[in-house]
Amino acid sequence: MKRVAITTLGCKVNQFESAAFASAFEARGCQLVPFQAEADIYVINTCTVTARAGQQSRQLIRRAFTRHSHARIFVTGCYAQMDPQGVLALGEYPLAIVGNGNKHRLVDAALSENPPDLIMLMGRIRDNRSICDLPVTRFRGRTRAYLRIQDGCDNFCSYCIVPYTRGPSRSLTVSRVLEQAAVFAEQGYRELVITGINVGKYGLDLDENETIYTLLDRLCRDFPQLRLRLSSIEPAEVNDSLLNLINRHTNFMPHLHIPLQSGDDQVLARMNRRYTRAGFAEVIHRVRAALPTAAIGCDVLGGFPGETEAEADNTHRLLEELPISYLHVFPYSRRPGTLAATMPRHLPGPVKEARVQRLRDLDQQKRRAMYAQGLDRVHRVLVERRHGATGLLQGFSENYIPLLFAGGTGLIHTVVPVRLTAIEDDQVKGILVDDWVEEKRQNR
Ligand code: SF4
Repeated sequence: MKRVAITTLGCKVNQFESAAFASAFEARGCQLVPFQAEADIYVINTCTVTARAGQQSRQLIRRAFTRHSHARIFVTGCYAQMDPQGVLALGEYPLAIVGNGNKHRLVDAALSENPPDLIMLMGRIRDNRSICDLPVTRFRGRTRAYLRIQDGCDNFCSYCIVPYTRGPSRSLTVSRVLEQAAVFAEQGYRELVITGINVGKYGLDLDENETIYTLLDRLCRDFPQLRLRLSSIEPAEVNDSLLNLINRHTNFMPHLHIPLQSGDDQVLARMNRRYTRAGFAEVIHRVRAALPTAAIGCDVLGGFPGETEAEADNTHRLLEELPISYLHVFPYSRRPGTLAATMPRHLPGPVKEARVQRLRDLDQQKRRAMYAQGLDRVHRVLVERRHGATGLLQGFSENYIPLLFAGGTGLIHTVVPVRLTAIEDDQVKGILVDDWVEEKRQNR
């Protein structure tokens, strides 16, 4: 029996794809072991979205080469796609480099009889016209599963390497999406996170007359027992169809993550983001009016090349004013091969760090305000695990508030009503509603 160790960096799409590798290896009789353990095959699913992710990818590959020189090393993912020569330079054979367009061939190549010492499954990713078929049997130990419905992007935002590493937008057919959702439902998962690189473009490359909106509607109707959450959607794709869907289906979680990146029109233009500050604000106000208690998250990039203090202030001020629940803040990271990498006036590290820190402080304020709004309300929490430090149960509300509360282990993997009772040192505490009723009765 072959032992296989898989490690994954980066986004939810990579995590879904690694789960597909794990499913296929297990189906072929292999044993999955932790990445630190002895194995016959090591798979490193890399990322290159930032310089740091690229560096971590190289470290993991080097570590696999030095600690497990007898094993077969398979390197795939965005770093492998971008810089296969860099991977070759890191170590010795036996080695396989599998581009993002060939991920469906990885397991066969790894288990083939007498494979050559060097396997290169690459190819021009921009020529790919269909998404790799990568079925997943299960996500290990998770209550929530990611369902990848789409890959690739055609937007070419000037800072982003993803269109070069993942190719054009390609969608999974509706029947394959439904099959995958049915597998997760059968396995007993309680929540699916609908994932892709640019999910709003779902279906546009297919002849099926489907869009992200018709697909989500179908998933909500066909799987009423599952909670559905959308990972991220571009502002231009947030429309009344989407907001009506969320209002209509109780199993579609009231939570939207909408990337902003900058709140300054000049910076947005240099980023090749196709909306304005005013247009983005209008989208957020429309969401808030339609979904008063929804979580609205935003991505924002600090320290884009040439960003002035005034431009950074514009972003900060816009985010301060908008009814947003939380921010994901990233420092701009120079990615060779992108347009922004060639732009003048890259900012020194300390300037970027200061801007990022200011935005992260704002994120903390926003989160606390969202939690405070939920105080004394009952939330339907999907219980995921026990929290290490406190031993309390831990789970997320429908609008993505992370709650801790006392309860029995049998509640893990179920949805329970929890009243939000306290916010302590950024921990959000609650009490199971039955317990809360009992406590009130005793204190009367
Ligand atoms: S929309 Fe822009 S930021 Fe997102 S993956 Fe496509 S190019 Fe990158």
